[in-house]
Amino acid sequence: NDCSESQKSAIDEIAKGFEINTEKLKEIIESFRNEMNKGLASHGQTVPMVPSYVTGIPTGKETGTFLALDLGGTNLRVCQVNLEGHGNVTLKQQKYKISEPLKNGEARQLFDYIADCVDKFLVEFNIGSSTGEKLDLGFTFSFPVDQTAIDKGNLVSWTKGYTASGAVGKDIVYLLQDSLNRKGVPVKVNALVNDTVGTLLAHAYKYPNTLLGVIFGTGTNGAYFDKISNIKKLRSFSSKADHMIINMEWGAFDNERRVLPLNMFDNKVDRKSNNPRKQAFEKLISGMYLGEITRNVLLNLIDRTLLFNGYSSKDLNNQYFFETEYMSNIESDDTSTLEKTKRILEESLNLPSTTLTDRQIVKRICQMVGLRAARLSSAALSAVISHCNAIESGCNVGIDGSLFVYYPFFKERIKSALREFFGPSADKIELEVAPDGSGVGAALAAMLSS
Ligand code: ADP
Repeated sequence: NDCSESQKSAIDEIAKGFEINTEKLKEIIESFRNEMNKGLASHGQTVPMVPSYVTGIPTGKETGTFLALDLGGTNLRVCQVNLEGHGNVTLKQQKYKISEPLKNGEARQLFDYIADCVDKFLVEFNIGSSTGEKLDLGFTFSFPVDQTAIDKGNLVSWTKGYTASGAVGKDIVYLLQDSLNRKGVPVKVNALVNDTVGTLLAHAYKYPNTLLGVIFGTGTNGAYFDKISNIKKLRSFSSKADHMIINMEWGAFDNERRVLPLNMFDNKVDRKSNNPRKQAFEKLISGMYLGEITRNVLLNLIDRTLLFNGYSSKDLNNQYFFETEYMSNIESDDTSTLEKTKRILEESLNLPSTTLTDRQIVKRICQMVGLRAARLSSAALSAVISHCNAIESGCNVGIDGSLFVYYPFFKERIKSALREFFGPSADKIELEVAPDGSGVGAALAAMLSS
């Protein structure tokens, strides 16, 4: 490595700002557990611990056919899910793009578009109701919702780049049902679930020992099974069930900035985001922000003429143009001359030219940002697993999202941080991809509700 002394010392200093040692990790876990307890005790807390009103745990034996909708950060997915029992499912699905104008226009237009997509899906796959009754649909809606029943929930705030007006404070099921009714689409929305709740249900259908459903995608969040007696704030709920799924909305953890070690790059990304001082934890972890943090570090080094000979490019100067996917490709670039990295920098980002040292520095920065994200992710998992006393018996964690699926070493880095906290018992925690979790999970919720 041909780094100059000034490059070396600049990078070492930046690295310090991204480091989370074992002691800090433990402090974060402790704080996370406290925030969980606060959220379970009363409303309006930073980590809101939203009751999902989903009380049944799937056994894997459930059968039936249901529709599912999944509105995530990037796509709308419409599915028909066939629960076959024995933990098996088959599904038909279609993805529809949500354009920026739809994300940021009027909510009514967004929900009308969603209703149109459901209609198109039914036509395309020739799905109808033989009895003339409406088709049951579970809606996976991956934004903070104040849920009051399994089929009722008011949007608390948009995240992940959405700002559509006229939705915050409104019942999301009502908005969607209204659009479906106006368009004459024969569908009844009978469950509203967060994607984490869906992921948890779907994973539990397959693995009975599942405790947690997690998303590491555009955003990050988790849901888990808790004893209803632990949900102190849930006063007027009577049910024979003894467990309920809690949608934690952990992306907001430490919005007060008490324990997360934010550096100047994090602060800048936050300040320039469309939700400053919100989703503090999510901004250090999720796909929407990791590339942007990296971009800010690179620009800082460029401005100090420690990288790319002091030259940036139009593309690199653009907010959010350095994609998290680039980091995946750069971190997995093991060619001796970092050719993949060279292509990203020179062809995708149009930097005039790069040296091997430049590329090594870029890779190092990606590693810092990616490693920190994984270690912080592990803190959330550790907090929930210790809250539930689940380490002795072991547990399954179902995880969805491109970051977990594609980012190299993400899982290994989480596992290694889990071992720092739990010791060898951490090996009893199974982290698995839960593909189609939100589709299958929404179908399961629709079934549990119908
Ligand atoms: P969503 O969370 O929106 O439902 P995904 O799970 O696909 O959808 O997550 C999309 C996010 O993942 C985007 O922020 C994107 O930057 C990031 N991403 C996409 N591909 C990759 C990849 N190969 N490596 C790392 N991150 C990726």
